[in-house]
Amino acid sequence: PAWLGVMGGGQLGRMFAQAAQAMGYQVAVLEPSEDCPAGQVAQRLVNAGYSDNAGLDALAAQCAAVTTEFENVPADSLSRLAQSVFVAPNAHGVSVAQDRVAEKRFFVSCADKSGVLPAPHKVIASQEDIDAISDDLLPGILKTVRMGYDGKGQVRVKSRADVQAAFESMDKVTCLLEKMLPLAYEVSVLTARGHDGESVVYPIAENVHRDGILFTTTVPGPNVSEESALKAQKAAQAIVAELGYVGVLCIEFFVLTDGSLVVNEMAPRPHNSGHYTIDACVTSQFAQQVRAMAQLPLGDVRQHSAAVMLNILGDVWFTDDSEVGDSAREPAWNEILALPGANLHLYGKDDPRRARKMGHLTFIAPTLAQAQQQLNAACAVLGIAP
Ligand code: ATP
Ligand code: MG
Ligand code: MG
Repeated sequence: PAWLGVMGGGQLGRMFAQAAQAMGYQVAVLEPSEDCPAGQVAQRLVNAGYSDNAGLDALAAQCAAVTTEFENVPADSLSRLAQSVFVAPNAHGVSVAQDRVAEKRFFVSCADKSGVLPAPHKVIASQEDIDAISDDLLPGILKTVRMGYDGKGQVRVKSRADVQAAFESMDKVTCLLEKMLPLAYEVSVLTARGHDGESVVYPIAENVHRDGILFTTTVPGPNVSEESALKAQKAAQAIVAELGYVGVLCIEFFVLTDGSLVVNEMAPRPHNSGHYTIDACVTSQFAQQVRAMAQLPLGDVRQHSAAVMLNILGDVWFTDDSEVGDSAREPAWNEILALPGANLHLYGKDDPRRARKMGHLTFIAPTLAQAQQQLNAACAVLGIAP
């Protein structure tokens, strides 16, 4: 059987590998850390870092195609792979998505086609940039240009003095100041584009974040109007086409209190907010990635059940305020799994930590109200507020 390769061995790589294996592929993972979620289910190439040429060349030689599960994989590594194997997504798409400045510039450049703009913003790389901040960008959020995720590398700022302090606290790495917008709710659109330029777009997902981390994804979104759904889906398809992208890509949008739509950021890979597709859609986002990279026809994105996805963080292993130690215990999965429509996905991580994504739970049901009711019951079992 043919081999598919994936850069990165986290839970996204694991679920990708599982989907690929279901379609008869073998999977090789390039991941430096020895104990990784994908390494438990796929072959891990030994001691190979993301920039290690020997590892990259071994992956390329072994595989019919290579993808990434990790948006911060060095773009140069994808370029090297692409000299000898089909790589999707390619270095260009990934390099735009991993740099907030390039990403914003790209969104602005295709706004006439996508019909959406990002939040007003300014690059902050020096004291002069801070002095030149215009009042209407404040209050805002200062975000590192690279490597931020789950709200890490972000500081909320009210004044130029706040920006200065935050910039210094981040060791003066290049940042982006974004105007704080009045959000009504947040949505994401998962798309996939094939090598032939055909693209598909999944139903729009409504996301709730807690402490900067995705808490739930609900599809169909209870707040989403048909008008904003269509607008976001159209924007997403224009964006992947403009990027010349091949593979699964997820775009986050804000819907503001006045109903307008703003594009936030994109992830060049399957996304946490797309996990609901595993249980609620004909083709999961991971199976879709397999199809796109293997240059097969894209799959049906139809959603067959209403769905609510809950991230399971390490916090629910602890019965008190401690971080580690005796109070850590396995949550009552037997009670969770007794709930109708429950689909439990655990990532094989054996060291629960607070704020660490250990798994997710998707409830599917004929109606959203039923799925939400089961979610509430699960939250009660896990001891978290719904
Ligand atoms: P992710 O884990 O999704 O990659 P991230 O760390 O890259 O997150 P963002 O998605 O840019 O960061 O921001 C995290 C959250 O902060 C958003 O989901 C939103 O709730 C809030 N946020 C970000 N930018 C703005 C803004 N300009 N105005 C208001 N809220 C914002
Ligand atoms: Mg992000
Ligand atoms: Mg985000």
